[in-house]
Amino acid sequence: MSLLPVKRWVSRACGLVVDLDGLLARRRGRYVLAYHRVLPVGHLRRHYVQSAMWVTPETFDRQLTWMARVGRIVDLPEILDFDTPSDRPLFAVTFDDGWRDNFAHAYPILRRHQAPATIFLVSGAIDSGALFWVEDLFEKTWAAARDGREAEVRAALAERMPGVAVAPGRTGVGAAMEGYAEALKELRGPERRERLADYYAALDLDPEPIRGELMDWAQVQEMARGGVRFGSHGASHEILKNLDADAARHDLTTSKAALEARLGVPVDTFCYPNARYEAAHPGLLAEAGYRYGFRIDNLPLTAGYDPYLVPRFLVNESVCAEPSYLKFRLLGVPRY
Ligand SMILES: [Zn+2]
Repeated sequence: MSLLPVKRWVSRACGLVVDLDGLLARRRGRYVLAYHRVLPVGHLRRHYVQSAMWVTPETFDRQLTWMARVGRIVDLPEILDFDTPSDRPLFAVTFDDGWRDNFAHAYPILRRHQAPATIFLVSGAIDSGALFWVEDLFEKTWAAARDGREAEVRAALAERMPGVAVAPGRTGVGAAMEGYAEALKELRGPERRERLADYYAALDLDPEPIRGELMDWAQVQEMARGGVRFGSHGASHEILKNLDADAARHDLTTSKAALEARLGVPVDTFCYPNARYEAAHPGLLAEAGYRYGFRIDNLPLTAGYDPYLVPRFLVNESVCAEPSYLKFRLLGVPRY
């Protein structure tokens, strides 16, 4: 059993007796929050979305209200600048990937709160509209399992991951396909594409990527006019370690140039795909003209931070459904 429900219950009980908002206010920390998707429950019933990836519009709305009450929601440049002190906690809202729900659901809520936000886009995916391979794999596999082909799907996954037990039931399919995706993330593009083509052929699934889940440039530009900032999340969404240095340089410069051409402003922030980076990557970012690199490690931003390894807190429904649980995390107690 996951410990999360227990941690949430303990957090709730402690939150009743400890003034967490007061503690956070006195600490005056700086917190960059990393969201992905803002999805209504109806969408989540019809699709497979990893639990790390979403909050509901209601939760997002509540969080913005809370942040503005305890501290201030500020733009990235303000939170990154320690020369200007703040007498309250500061929060910055960021989103990874450029999902269409950011435009449809998050943007109206941000506007209502007049809250600034930054979205890290995958320029090539906005160009093509093609869903990322991980979510494409999940959506197609899940749909096939739901369509009465669960045993076949489980067999195809088990065959590709010898030694990994695929438990019966859809939970088993979810865990197995997430495990398969993690294994494929270790491979470089060409080999991974070959494996995926073989998997789709075995299950007779359409290898063409699903479209329509990501924003298009018109939506990006409308949000930019409304004050939303954009950074780069790469051109291809490839994990940098799976690219050799030249390909990584190309990915970094292409996405920066594409975003600057579409938005007409300099883009100097980069968010590492899959939050993975290696020692050589900050140097490549600097070489490509970026000034900041963002990761996810559930730590607050402190003076003297490394601009190419800016820490962020991952926020999703499981972390924030119980508000005290997120507050304890921001306070660093306990350290998960
Ligand atoms: Zn991403």
